[in-house]
Amino acid sequence: MFSRVLIANRGEIALRIIRACHELGVEAVVVHSEADRGAAYLESADGAICIGPAAAGKSYLNIPAIISAAEIADVDAIHPGYGFLAENAHFAEVCNECGITFIGPEPASMRQLGDKVAARNLAKKARVPCVPGSEGEIKDEAEAIKLANKIGYPIILKAAAGGGGRGMRVAHNDISLRKAFAAAKTEAEAAFKNGTLYLEKFILEPRHVEVQVMADKSGNAIHFYERDCTIQRRHQKLIEESPCPVLDEKTREELCKAALRLIKEAKYHNAATCEFLLDRDKNYYFIEVNTRIQVEHPVSELVTGQDLIKWQLKIASGQTLDLRQRDIRHSGCAMECRINAEDPARGFAPNPGRVQKFIVPGGPGVRVDTHMYQGAVISPYYDSMIAKLIVHQPTREETIATMKRALREFKIEPIKTTIPAHIKILSHSLFAKGTVDTSFIERHMGA
Ligand code: ADP
Repeated sequence: MFSRVLIANRGEIALRIIRACHELGVEAVVVHSEADRGAAYLESADGAICIGPAAAGKSYLNIPAIISAAEIADVDAIHPGYGFLAENAHFAEVCNECGITFIGPEPASMRQLGDKVAARNLAKKARVPCVPGSEGEIKDEAEAIKLANKIGYPIILKAAAGGGGRGMRVAHNDISLRKAFAAAKTEAEAAFKNGTLYLEKFILEPRHVEVQVMADKSGNAIHFYERDCTIQRRHQKLIEESPCPVLDEKTREELCKAALRLIKEAKYHNAATCEFLLDRDKNYYFIEVNTRIQVEHPVSELVTGQDLIKWQLKIASGQTLDLRQRDIRHSGCAMECRINAEDPARGFAPNPGRVQKFIVPGGPGVRVDTHMYQGAVISPYYDSMIAKLIVHQPTREETIATMKRALREFKIEPIKTTIPAHIKILSHSLFAKGTVDTSFIERHMGA
């Protein structure tokens, strides 16, 4: 095992990694920006190094500054968390070249799976069903229109380098496709410096279901079952749960096995998530792989009793997965609500500022992953997610009841948060029945 790890991230995930390191007897040093100076979670670390100004480009995305910090701290490895540099293959390469282990996959598999077109091709090779669509890049509008007419509208244009729901546009006919093509390309170029687009059939009323996978460097891979992340706002996840409430045992097993085939085909190691869409007839289609630990990983931790961050550290340090698939049991139901500092009354605009009251829920079945506290300042520079409220109970009904109780206990003032929106969603009869699709918020939550 490593003796010291650098955490190239901030906030709740930095704290989550510090905790895993300490439980494994590993020292954790955290980098931080000037905006995060004095943040409480830094006190839990064994060292904190300021790497630059608030703007992420000058700090959390500043590779030379992070590598210098790693050298000063004399660490063996770097954990990138999620976001920032977590899926940056160049960063992983630089770490390896400097003799520092990158806690994640090889840069080559990150590159291959990070390109959604290449990932689709790999999935096909591994006999994993993909959404019907283009074989590769769609070069121009004419090609898009030809293919859209062949597979049938509606279609969705997506960025090969896409993430965070950006660079995606739905089109229902040739006219809207022309407009969508230009808009998606411009957005992809601006967001990812890569305007490569591909096209998929737009699956109607889908659910988003993903499989958590972990693989070691010797080629052993196991899954930690699925998470259902259908409750989304503008293609961004808001609530995640496991098990998926509508999946039958047979489909679930097939889905998990498909994810493992793909990961093995990619000769992948460390944590990955294979994302799928489930259509109304319960057919599943691969959409993408995330080559990092995800925000919603605690959901899988609670239903399996495994610590995924510790597994990341163990695998990166060369240990083998000394677990068999049958050792991973799924128990009960877990659900996560993302608590974002956003104002629902202003179109969910970020709502930074000083937190004057912060009362965290607790009690049976409740886990809260957060770096916030009374008096803390929510910075306008970074993601608006300030806490994850995760509940685990024997049944889905009990999980929803505990989650509602915990949401009501959670007091964050005067900042506007997604807590009232979560209570509204959890109180909706369709959510209780589990019969939702990815358009639920737009269709049923109104303004
Ligand atoms: P990103 O990497 O930007 O998050 P994804 O490919 O993971 O993009 O898709 C994000 C969400 O967009 C999905 O969870 C789903 O709600 C929607 N989506 C993506 N592809 C399709 C599709 N072919 N049909 C319907 N919805 C889709």
